[in-house]
Amino acid sequence: MEKRKAAVVDRCCRALIPDFAAGAWTSFLNLLLPPLCHSCRAPLQAPGEIRLCPDCLASVAGIGDPICSCCGRPFATFAGIDHPCGECTLYPPPFLPARSALRYEKRVREMIHSFKYGYRVMLRRPLALLAAPRLDDFVAEFAPELILPVPLHVKRLRQRGFNQAILLGELFSRRWQIPLSRDNLRRVRWTEPQVTLSAAERADNVRGAFSLARAELLEWKRVLLVDDVYTTGSTVKECSRVLAAAGAVTAVVTLARGVD
Ligand SMILES: [Zn+2]
Ligand SMILES: [Zn+2]
Repeated sequence: MEKRKAAVVDRCCRALIPDFAAGAWTSFLNLLLPPLCHSCRAPLQAPGEIRLCPDCLASVAGIGDPICSCCGRPFATFAGIDHPCGECTLYPPPFLPARSALRYEKRVREMIHSFKYGYRVMLRRPLALLAAPRLDDFVAEFAPELILPVPLHVKRLRQRGFNQAILLGELFSRRWQIPLSRDNLRRVRWTEPQVTLSAAERADNVRGAFSLARAELLEWKRVLLVDDVYTTGSTVKECSRVLAAAGAVTAVVTLARGVD
């Protein structure tokens, strides 16, 4: 509550003071209420744009080559070139490549959990800032015309109050200057949480769960599907099937990916 009051005072004072005094005011406010790490809440000495402390930043690991050229799965070895993994060779996915930025472990896992289940919506910004630079080249090469966030069922949306994929999609849309479609792709069937299910059960669980409100708008479109975590890929594969049936070509980006 104190912080909220301070934020209001800060906004009011900024409107009243001239530009040259704004820097001094910010320094004074930082002294009064030192900025905290978005993840572990440790005081920040030098708050950068991401607003994470050095310890939290050090525990964030990106997904490096070599990876599966199809689904983006990182290989255990650190040598060799990108190539399709065994699963993608046997069962080619319905999307063009998928790419994930971060390994879903340690601090990244904690931050995504806090974001989704702890309602710490402000974490979307540091997560997107950590992920986006690792996805820039992939997105530029695919050149999508539209971003579609993976939708939540309306019941889940009411429970959580927000769709994390839409919140991320908004930030990515701004960064990459690609229009965002929030409600064309819809989750029309309730599905049980995937966490405890096997890969086969996950695929069954989401079958027929998605549909398009305006399929005709997506014919021949290059679509970028956005989600927070890629686990077995069953959700994005099912979305991509629906999009392919409408004539769209889909690539997938996620913040993070589970690593075997
Ligand atoms: Zn921290
Ligand atoms: Zn693969």
